[in-house]
Amino acid sequence: MKPDDNIHCNFCQKSQKAQQQYDFISGPGDIYICSQCIEQCNLLLKNKKKNKVSRPKKKFNIPTPMEIHEYLNKYIIEQHQAKKSLAVAVHNHYKRVNDLSSKKFRTDIEEEVENVEDVELTKSNVLLIGPTGSGKTLLAQTIARFLDVPFAISDATSLTEAGYVGEDVENVILSLLQAADYNVETAETGIIYIDEIDKITRKSENTSITRDVSGEGVQQALLKILEGTTANLPPKGGRKHPQQEFIQVNTSNILFIVGGAFVGLENIIENRLSNKAMGIAADIKTDEEKIDAKQNLLKKLEPTDLSKYGLIPEFIGRLPVISVLDPLDEHSLVDILQKPKNALVKQYKKLMKYENVELVFEEKALRAIARQAIKKKTGARGLRAVIEEAILDTMYKIPSVNPSSIKECIITEDVILRKTPPHLVYKDKKSQEPTQTPEPTETPESTEESA
Ligand code: ADP
Repeated sequence: MKPDDNIHCNFCQKSQKAQQQYDFISGPGDIYICSQCIEQCNLLLKNKKKNKVSRPKKKFNIPTPMEIHEYLNKYIIEQHQAKKSLAVAVHNHYKRVNDLSSKKFRTDIEEEVENVEDVELTKSNVLLIGPTGSGKTLLAQTIARFLDVPFAISDATSLTEAGYVGEDVENVILSLLQAADYNVETAETGIIYIDEIDKITRKSENTSITRDVSGEGVQQALLKILEGTTANLPPKGGRKHPQQEFIQVNTSNILFIVGGAFVGLENIIENRLSNKAMGIAADIKTDEEKIDAKQNLLKKLEPTDLSKYGLIPEFIGRLPVISVLDPLDEHSLVDILQKPKNALVKQYKKLMKYENVELVFEEKALRAIARQAIKKKTGARGLRAVIEEAILDTMYKIPSVNPSSIKECIITEDVILRKTPPHLVYKDKKSQEPTQTPEPTETPESTEESA
């Protein structure tokens, strides 16, 4: 039969004459389909079978690294290098998640048509190295909040290999699933922060670690979830037992951020460098110089140093992004007290505002709080405890001591260092005369006791 210009494929609308290389099959009535459309339908059906869920997964509206950095700046002081590398890692991670989900949905035909190059993007899990209270957890948490993804925190020291007494590594995923309100798809794109990763090192390589031999076993177990595995989790409210149905959560798209202080890591780096006759200067004296020297060494960190510290190479290999946080000095801690969006000083001021009392922290008091936190060696984590201790009495008394008569409550350096009561300014000058303390019954002895 000669190609006919009047015969059209009812799918692609092309005429038989224009599609001479294809066969045309007629159906009942005056309808036709060309063999090209038949092939495409076949591919569609094949693809549908392959991806039972042909619905595309939620696509992330990924903020740029700069936008992420800007958001982090509102809550986190300093740590610019860590913010930058985290911002890039997280941005790339969610690009990868989008890429994988669209790839899953993309049909073979579309791939052929678009000629998309099939480059696999690897996951960029992150290792944060920094002293206690320098903002590692806060960084991870803040990013998760910005991206509106579920977030879970876990402590590596509480984890055990499967089969041992303690928390099974899969519980880490369970926490994330709970944070996602048991929505598996949402959980699968969440962020997990694992703290104290430096406490599960191999005992043999690091004599300062007193942990039992299971450190390496926990690393092996974590490695699996970092690489991507399907975790079988008990359903809501349930416990694991052989007969029950599990909820399956794939960990391939979960971003893992792990952190640790890695005390003494700088010595390993120094040793490596001094082997190459590049050791650091021996004339370091002041604390600041020591900190600088340590940070400079940590900047030269190589994966082999972590392996020497006791992380197994496969585990290190799953943490392609490594970032070092700086210890926070007095100046940074003073900033932390007042600058972040929900800074402690702002929070306490707000609490006092409810009593119509203006809470004022003198600059010297802030510096004293910072110094005390440094002494405790808990970084910014110690700030709240120092303030609480100093102003607990005031917070206790003011709401019940006719607050309407008090205008200002001034926290001076002495309040922090010597535990003296804060200086109160009264609206009515007369009411200020009898006592400087908010509670008239307070005796000088009790003030000394608390000092
Ligand atoms: P880490 O995980 O490094 O031990 P965290 O992130 O848990 O420390 O910090 C504890 C608390 O200290 C945070 O919740 C936050 O209030 C404060 N903090 C720590 N570092 C910073 C920082 N760089 N900027 C602002 N606040 C910080």
